[in-house]
Amino acid sequence: VQRADAVIIGGGLAGCATATYLAQGGASVVLLEQKRLNAGASGQNAGSLHFQLEHRLIQHADALGEQLDFYVALARRAIDDWRRLPQELGEDIELAMHGGLMVAESAEQVAKLEKKAAIEARQGLEVQLLDGDAARRLAPYLGPTIQAALLCPDEGHCNPRLLTGAYARAALAAGAQLHSDTAVTALRRVGGHWRVRARKAGSEQTQEWQAQHVINTAGAWAAAVGRLANIHLPVFPVALTMSVTEKLPPVLHHLIQHIGRKLSMKQVEDGNLLIGGGWSARLAQRGGEWHPDLAASVDLQALRGNLATAAEVVPAVAPLSLLRTWTGTTGITPDQLPIIGEVGAAPGFYVATGGSGFTYGPTYARLLAEKILTGDSSLPLTPYSPDRFGHMNMFMGQS
Ligand SMILES: Cc1cc2nc3c(=O)[nH]c(=O)nc-3n(C[C@H](O)[C@H](O)[C@H](O)COP(=O)(O)OP(=O)(O)OC[C@H]3O[C@@H](n4cnc5c(N)ncnc54)[C@H](O)[C@@H]3O)c2cc1C
Repeated sequence: VQRADAVIIGGGLAGCATATYLAQGGASVVLLEQKRLNAGASGQNAGSLHFQLEHRLIQHADALGEQLDFYVALARRAIDDWRRLPQELGEDIELAMHGGLMVAESAEQVAKLEKKAAIEARQGLEVQLLDGDAARRLAPYLGPTIQAALLCPDEGHCNPRLLTGAYARAALAAGAQLHSDTAVTALRRVGGHWRVRARKAGSEQTQEWQAQHVINTAGAWAAAVGRLANIHLPVFPVALTMSVTEKLPPVLHHLIQHIGRKLSMKQVEDGNLLIGGGWSARLAQRGGEWHPDLAASVDLQALRGNLATAAEVVPAVAPLSLLRTWTGTTGITPDQLPIIGEVGAAPGFYVATGGSGFTYGPTYARLLAEKILTGDSSLPLTPYSPDRFGHMNMFMGQS
């Protein structure tokens, strides 16, 4: 049995960033990834930095109540974290923070933007409501149907194919061990420590680690990893569609989102437009079980809907050729907020997953590492505690 202070399960953004901050804080860290680093949602996503409250949260604003205020506080913290990230990681991660516009096309949607802006402003997030003409002056590519837009000057995007790798290199430099092709297959708590068993791909041989802390950053697989620790975690896999167009000269300087329709759009450094925004794909299913590890299939109706929305909001999209469409699988929680923190029924077992985990992954990791290293975090994690679903584990955990 090998020993470490912390074993991290899952080598996406959340896992690699948590490994970095724990190792930089002096902990001995082992990260285990069943496939390749960045093989999951962290390498498949749209790369949008969503600091305004998103469409998916506003849709359920009444149910979320004051939770939304906490979410805005997290966004403000994430903005600061992103601003210093390129220098901290010492690599070009193609970070652009030139502002984001959330557009509205009807009076009802404009009213929603106003309500949202009030929540955000109350929590100190910088946002500015523009009428349709002002929005078009700032972003001439917006079409005639746009009646208003909420500008958040800090929003933007980053390349998902670069960020996790940059963190992985930072984690290695700080002394963490990273093992790819190594799937965790069993978790047991023995004498106040966790025993973590893992198997190398293509081999029957297993390896075992003993650690005080186990961190579940397994994304869409987080519930399955929870089961290994005998606990229920309400994290559900969902598959989403992304598309990329041919390259064009720089025209679209903002991240574009919509208050009432699913849309995210941006122009990346190479000139291509990335189009997404939460349109569904079909998760692979076998024997009545979802299989997040198998590729989800494209739903053509969703793809058409996504592209039509993009072309309506930005008419210059219509004549462009589509280069590629792909799907990615992520994990969502019942209340749409992330799950970050220790599970009461399983001491020493931590989770960091859910929410817009590309935007907030660096911040989840920083806060969780602070909590593990010092017992406290510089922003309260209570609103995101796994124990808000603690009743599910009343009869679970250690017996
Ligand atoms: C198409 C799409 C678009 C998105 N767009 C955005 C966006 O624009 N902005 C945004 O903020 N968020 C976006 N998201 C969400 C974001 O991508 C995820 O929240 C984030 O990447 C999750 O990171 P993670 O590290 O938690 O999970 P992942 O990157 O999925 O990593 C989990 C890892 O755990 C590994 N694993 C699982 N089980 C085991 C095991 N037993 N042993 C070892 N390893 C295991 C997996 O192989 C995987 O590599 C999008 C998601 C998708 C799918």
